[in-house]
Amino acid sequence: MTAPATIDLREYIRNIPDFPKPGIQFKDITPLLASPEAFRSAIEQLAAHFRGRGVEVIAAAEARGFIFGAPLAMQMGAGFVPIRKPGKLPYATIAQEYQLEYGSDRLEVHSDALGRGRRVLLLDDVLATGGTMKACIDLVHSAGAELVACAFVIELSFLEGRARLTPPEVFSLITY
Ligand code: AMP
Repeated sequence: MTAPATIDLREYIRNIPDFPKPGIQFKDITPLLASPEAFRSAIEQLAAHFRGRGVEVIAAAEARGFIFGAPLAMQMGAGFVPIRKPGKLPYATIAQEYQLEYGSDRLEVHSDALGRGRRVLLLDDVLATGGTMKACIDLVHSAGAELVACAFVIELSFLEGRARLTPPEVFSLITY
C-alpha cells in the first residue's frame, strides 16, 4: 500500500522541552511511529530517495535507529546490520570510541557484518551534533565497506552536525 504523498511528517514530531536535561528540546518520534500512515510514509520516502543506488546493507545504531532501519531494509531489499553499545554483540566486533558532551562512549559492530566493498546506507532518527553518526562512519570505513550516504528522519541543522560528516551524501526527511 502506498502512503499519501501529502502527509506532513512534522505534524507527528512532538517537541519535549528540557528533556533529558535543561536546555535540550527533545524531538519525540513516538507519535510518528504510532501513526501507520506517517510511519509508512517516512519509510517509503527514504526508500524512494535511495532506490537504484545499489544499497546492500542498512546499518543503524541502537536504539531508535533500529526502529527505522529494519523496515527500510525490508522495503529496499537490503540487509540490516545493528550497531550497538559495548558488550551487546555476541560475536567478534570492531569498535569506535566517540566523544559525548561529558566523557566518551563506544559503538560496536560485528567484524564480518560490513564486508569489504559492501554498499552501506547509515541511518539514524536524529542528527544532532553528528558524533554518533561520525562513529558509525568510522566503523564503515574500518570494515572496508563503501558508504553510500547517511540518512536521518530529523536533522537539527542549527547544531551543524552535518559539517562533521563526510559521506557522499547526507539526507534528512525533516530539517529544523
Ligand atoms: P548526536 O550524536 O549529537 O548527533 O546525537 C544523535 C543521537 O542522539 C541520535 O541517535 C538521537 O537519537 C539522539 N538525540 C540527540 N539529540 C536529540 C534530540 N534533540 N531529540 C531527540 N533525539 C536526540
